[in-house]
Amino acid sequence: MTTASTSLSERATLWRELAQGEKTWDLVIVGGGIIGAGVLREAARRGLSALLVEQRDFAWGTSSRSSKMVHGGLRYIASGDIRLTRDAVRERERLLHEAPGLIERMGYYFTLRRGQFPGRYVFSLLLAFYDWLAGIRNHRYVSRDEMRQNYDGIDQRGLKGAVYYTDTVTDDARLVLRVLQEAVEAGGRALNYAKADSLIREDGRVCGVVLHNAQGGERAEVRARAVISATGAWADRLRNEVNPEKRIRPLRGSHLVLPFARLPVPDALTLLHPADRRPVFVFPWEGTTVVGTTDLDHGGGLDEEPAISDEEVDYLLTVLQQQFPDHAIGRGDIVSTWSGVRPVIGSEKSRDPSKERRDHAVWNDQGLVTVSGGKLTTFRLIALDAINAACGEPAAKVADERVFSAVTLAPAELDTTDESWARRLLGRYGDRARELFDIAGPGETRPIAGTLFCLAECRWAARHEAVVHLDDLLLRRTRLGCIVARGAEDLLPELETICREELGWDSERWRSEVARYLALWRRHYYLPSQDA
Ligand SMILES: Cc1cc2nc3c(=O)[nH]c(=O)nc-3n(C[C@H](O)[C@H](O)[C@H](O)COP(=O)(O)OP(=O)(O)OC[C@H]3O[C@@H](n4cnc5c(N)ncnc54)[C@H](O)[C@@H]3O)c2cc1C
Repeated sequence: MTTASTSLSERATLWRELAQGEKTWDLVIVGGGIIGAGVLREAARRGLSALLVEQRDFAWGTSSRSSKMVHGGLRYIASGDIRLTRDAVRERERLLHEAPGLIERMGYYFTLRRGQFPGRYVFSLLLAFYDWLAGIRNHRYVSRDEMRQNYDGIDQRGLKGAVYYTDTVTDDARLVLRVLQEAVEAGGRALNYAKADSLIREDGRVCGVVLHNAQGGERAEVRARAVISATGAWADRLRNEVNPEKRIRPLRGSHLVLPFARLPVPDALTLLHPADRRPVFVFPWEGTTVVGTTDLDHGGGLDEEPAISDEEVDYLLTVLQQQFPDHAIGRGDIVSTWSGVRPVIGSEKSRDPSKERRDHAVWNDQGLVTVSGGKLTTFRLIALDAINAACGEPAAKVADERVFSAVTLAPAELDTTDESWARRLLGRYGDRARELFDIAGPGETRPIAGTLFCLAECRWAARHEAVVHLDDLLLRRTRLGCIVARGAEDLLPELETICREELGWDSERWRSEVARYLALWRRHYYLPSQDA
């Protein structure tokens, strides 16, 4: 039986506790993306009393909008960033080992065409080094015939073959949720829809934050021995209270989601865009085919969810139309889109966005430790750097422990005969996967048509994962809103039953949640408005 202290669903209790303002925490972490979650995990394991606050929903920021690749980043070797690549491939292997089913190995084909540089031999050397850094040997050359078989309809003109290697793929929002679950089970506390409005300072030192409850509107002063801002693209905001420097260059990246049947790809394919020679990935994800990403300065504000622009839709369709001319893929095929804002630490010079380094930075200003930049993949190492900066070196002492507790259940112990699905559930929920079956209503453990999600996951999330709005459930606890046509509108009747039973929503609340969700989906997860 789950108690309040080991569940994310303790908003009301935790808020009441904070409003009393009696406690001084060892550590307050601002930001509920992968870095904040990683910091909470590491802090809780060290026995620190740690609280994480997130202004919207957990993973609402960039950590639910990435390309979902837990990868070394081949391009970083090419740009000479060997340390970043080495750290990333090692973390990748570690996560793969710790959470199979959540992080899965995926093949990547990099097409080689006549006149293209680097060619087969340089690439093979690069991949040999890439594999060597990770301690694996998966790369090989792939013939043009094999490419033709694997990627039906791929443009044959100038195609010589491809180089093959492996990286991994995940569900980024579920990765954040699983890390949070581990952190909370180790004693950490986490609160969504709670914004750190400003810093509290005494004698010139930061010693807490003023919180605003986005649900009830109340405020609370929360005091702490250390404050870490893991606010990603938003990092300049809190930091500017103690240091006027602006370091974050927000760069937007967008993706298209297509029905798998329109462009069936067995593994990821890397294509060079004809306009600027940037690599664009086409990869299978959650029963769909995803195409991305773009990379441009994000002109929009950071308070609204980012959305794809017309130019980005055209840019991504152009590479598909060029490389798969017979498929004639157009706007009418698009199931959904998503956009994210990379928290890139801007260089002094104004460079081409794609040439900016993707490393992280940690700053300590009057006791406020800010961490930003980096990658999903290296979240554990980034979290350790932030904790070291905030709390001193002892962090290093337990730097090698698992992020995820070992799962003790075997796939066969779940009520399903589908072993790979059982593995997926164990990767996402750990030993708590069993509870999905225990609480499910009739038919709720059957995968929803065309997806690997089931309604029992929605019920479990509603009960245990601090779901406040319908979009939390459809866009982050599950990804049904991104992978099922029309934002999964057809599933709303079943979800209504679950939300009424688990969240106590009445008809009026349900109607307003549906209106909010569909408006948000049309505006930020579909096509620019004239198409919609
Ligand atoms: C298009 C794209 C593709 C990418 N692909 C990959 C990839 O394939 N692999 C990879 O490793 N990396 C990838 N990345 C990078 C990766 O997604 C990010 O580096 C990572 O998600 C950043 O995590 P974060 O926790 O720092 O930021 P976020 O996830 O943005 O979390 C910061 C959180 O802080 C919250 N916040 C801000 N201000 C406040 C406040 N005052 N009070 C409370 N909360 C606040 C925000 O709401 C937000 O949720 C990609 C990024 C983009 C944009």
